[in-house]
Amino acid sequence: MTDIKDKDYIVVVQCHIVKQRCSGYYCEKAFNERTGGFAAYPKDKSYRIMNMTCGGCCGRAVHRKLSLFTRRIKKDEGMEKDRIVVQLSSCITKDNFHAPPCPHLDYIKALIARLGLDVREDTFISDISEKRRKAGLYGTN
Ligand code: SF4
Ligand code: SF4
Repeated sequence: MTDIKDKDYIVVVQCHIVKQRCSGYYCEKAFNERTGGFAAYPKDKSYRIMNMTCGGCCGRAVHRKLSLFTRRIKKDEGMEKDRIVVQLSSCITKDNFHAPPCPHLDYIKALIARLGLDVREDTFISDISEKRRKAGLYGTN
């Protein structure tokens, strides 16, 4: 993984099913406040940031979307892949009240790795859900 300080562009990939209802506000808030999965990003640096969904189960569209995006941004702006990082939203990576993590998480990560992009997990981390996860209340961890 390239040093996070060398990243300039964050692509947040979110669960397509969850985004039928969720605006993504808490992901945006977590980034703005540099909390949860964004805590390691320096606060004094500005980033380009884009949200996209996985495209629906099994997440295969992630490859097509990111492939086209990386080709476009390289052609238009000369941005190489090592300046881009993919951040998987917590509704994909974490057990929570609504559901266990995405059953295709490893597959999605493999698709992103195949494109030569760095990937990180988590966005918004709910204090209540984190306590419940640690207490094993969801029964899947
Ligand atoms: S992590 Fe939360 S705020 Fe972000 S897309 Fe998923 S449900 Fe919405
Ligand atoms: S593949 Fe995973 S992240 Fe995508 S819609 Fe299905 S459950 Fe959600």
